[in-house]
Amino acid sequence: MSGATRNIARFVEFGKKIVCVGRNYSEHAAELGNPVPKKPILFLKPSTAYVSQGQTIQIPPECTSLHHEVELGIVIGKQGSCISEADAMNHVGGYVLALDMTARDFQDEAKTKGQPWSVAKGFDTSCPVGDFIEKEKLGNPGNVNLWLKVNNEMRQNGSTKDMIFSIPYLVSYISRYFSLEAGDLVLTGTPSGVGPVKQGDIIEAGIADISKIKFVVNKRT
Ligand code: MG
Repeated sequence: MSGATRNIARFVEFGKKIVCVGRNYSEHAAELGNPVPKKPILFLKPSTAYVSQGQTIQIPPECTSLHHEVELGIVIGKQGSCISEADAMNHVGGYVLALDMTARDFQDEAKTKGQPWSVAKGFDTSCPVGDFIEKEKLGNPGNVNLWLKVNNEMRQNGSTKDMIFSIPYLVSYISRYFSLEAGDLVLTGTPSGVGPVKQGDIIEAGIADISKIKFVVNKRT
């Protein structure tokens, strides 16, 4: 890395890309009527999708079905491509609680027409994140609870142990196609229970009681 080692905790400020995994929990694939994938389904969000605590999630123009998806985010700490599964965890710099906000109506239309998901998944404010979590603090990222409430009602409550593709496998697989750089984020998919939010709703989510976030949903301003 050039210059002084960047503070990985501030990845939102310098990370270049967000690589997301779709349908990585079988119950979630089923709830949207999708088959369980044989290999990871990847898509990207631009870094302009980030929003941090204190900012609002904005409903993109003309979207009528904005969905929440709570996900464990992996913050890459060390550059690599074609990373082996055995070496993958050495490239993980830490974690973050993230939401993969999805314009489900846009995504459904794109799927029907065979078009890309870029707008449905990558619009401004589609990637709310919490505070950086030190690697050691999470313990085993392959077995942590993920939950999400809307207006205090539990909507999603799952565990990363139900992921179809493990974190080392995902880091290895993704790095065959996209070089992973320090500050990049990998979103690992969402457990079941996704659903719509509307203007004024309050989304709270957590990784057990290790990390919590709270965001308000608003119209695009
Ligand atoms: Mg997702």
